[in-house]
Amino acid sequence: MTQARSTQIIAPIVHAQPALASQVDAAIAAGADLVELRVDRIGDVAAVEALLRGLRRCPFILTIRRAEEGGAWNDDDATRVALYERLGLLMPGYIDIEYATWMRSANLRQKIGLVCETGDADPAGRPKNKLILSHHDQRGTPNDAENIGLLSAMLEQPAAMVKFVTTARDASDALRVLNLAGLADKAERPLIALAMGEAGLATRALAGCFGLWGGFAAIEPGGESAPGQPTIAELRSLYRWNAQTRRSRLFGVIGWPVSHSKSPRLHNAAMAADGIDGVYVPLPVEPTQAGFDWFMGQTFISAGRRFVGLSVTIPHKEHAIQWLERNAGEISPLATRCGAVNTLVRTPDGGWLGDNTDAGGAWTAIAAAAPSLATRSQRFRASVLGAGGVARGVAAVLVEHGGRVCIFNRTPDRAERLALELGCDWAPWEERPNRPCDLLVNGTSVGMTPADQDTPFPATGLRSGMAVLDTVYTPPETRLIREARAAGCVVIGGTAMLLAQAGGQYCHWHGREMPGVGVA
Ligand code: NAP
Repeated sequence: MTQARSTQIIAPIVHAQPALASQVDAAIAAGADLVELRVDRIGDVAAVEALLRGLRRCPFILTIRRAEEGGAWNDDDATRVALYERLGLLMPGYIDIEYATWMRSANLRQKIGLVCETGDADPAGRPKNKLILSHHDQRGTPNDAENIGLLSAMLEQPAAMVKFVTTARDASDALRVLNLAGLADKAERPLIALAMGEAGLATRALAGCFGLWGGFAAIEPGGESAPGQPTIAELRSLYRWNAQTRRSRLFGVIGWPVSHSKSPRLHNAAMAADGIDGVYVPLPVEPTQAGFDWFMGQTFISAGRRFVGLSVTIPHKEHAIQWLERNAGEISPLATRCGAVNTLVRTPDGGWLGDNTDAGGAWTAIAAAAPSLATRSQRFRASVLGAGGVARGVAAVLVEHGGRVCIFNRTPDRAERLALELGCDWAPWEERPNRPCDLLVNGTSVGMTPADQDTPFPATGLRSGMAVLDTVYTPPETRLIREARAAGCVVIGGTAMLLAQAGGQYCHWHGREMPGVGVA
């Protein structure tokens, strides 16, 4: 099978107010295919009954989730099954019950069979509900053998479909959950598989790429039924839900944290404009070399092999270069000079090549805003603040273009080491306002949201005619940029560099120029 089954968007309703019918209307208007009535959370059974007796505009999933699996039902199972029977007779649609509950009692299975297709046909010939057997692990994502064992056992039950949910610690867990799609394919059984939490977003955003039966999305922020659930609008417009296929090439940004990244918006919009079958997602990976290595290991297995391009951001740019060195990956000469990799490109033999487009992007943005720097007869003087991944890249490219660079960093050892590597100067952090320069680059994270009242450079040191590049792009206008503009400097915001470095990545992955898209 190459084409994805159409993957359903399921909108949960978890509150009794506003009126259930108007919440259903809002879900359909937002683009939901089905609505899940979380009776355990709604609480008002009479309102649910009234809704089910009324005009139905979409199929419903009826769920009364017990507390042990993340629901709000604390009463006994006998009462719960009686409620399933009562409401189930008003459908038909789907009834979700936990696998653990289902396996516990033959009596319960028999009762559920009265309203589900698992039992005998209805004596009056009425259609029955389809059964969803579900499992929710609130603690984490168990090892692969345990997951496969449990899911295989669930797939043997006579349910219409299976829902398998874990909690992701980081994006490696998300990929391991997506691997389970292959098991359901082999069994030719519909599956919902996802990992809860912010780190599990890839499972939710890429459900269509793996032919999963459905995914859950909130009607609007605040309407989530589980942690990490995106909104319907995010799935449909940001993650290209309608364009996802089983052939879609996958891309993502590895970082920690990564939820603030503008790259998914940028790359998905560009691929949509270019008609490319691809999806780009945030991939939060634990902030250690071991976390990075473990994730990269996953990119050689099953679901992970679908990833053909990765952006790398804080704090993994140096981890990436080390991983490539240890795993016989290719590293571009510029990335080697920068000592940092921000772009991984899948090679024809299935390995990875690392490059650094931050550096080239910074130079593109500088040359566009301050062309005189690039063309003047004397070497320009540049002060670079920071000695981390971005600062290294920018400093390296400035040296390459003939700049007389001086590095200033809070931790002096790092400034000294970097200056030695690049063959440029360094000076103590406190001296940064005293050195005259034509170009000032902020390559630290100072000034970034939420600490956007901070600045890495005193306003008194800014001079008219200087060019100032702030690599920080959240907020789009930093305090440094505001003060530099007021002092008569040529200002270059982080967004210009972001767009230029993303353009470099796009060229690598798709072999063409990135179309112009906004990053508001
Ligand atoms: P990184 O490797 O973690 O380096 C952070 C740098 O900031 C280090 O030099 C660190 O100094 C310095 N620093 C942090 N807090 C500081 C403070 N309170 N005072 C002084 N210095 C401080 O991070 P990175 O990957 O280079 O990213 C740096 C910035 O670039 C981030 O804000 C990121 O958003 C931005 N960025 C922009 C783009 C773009 O395209 N515009 C692309 C990537 C990143 P120590 O060595 O003393 O810790």
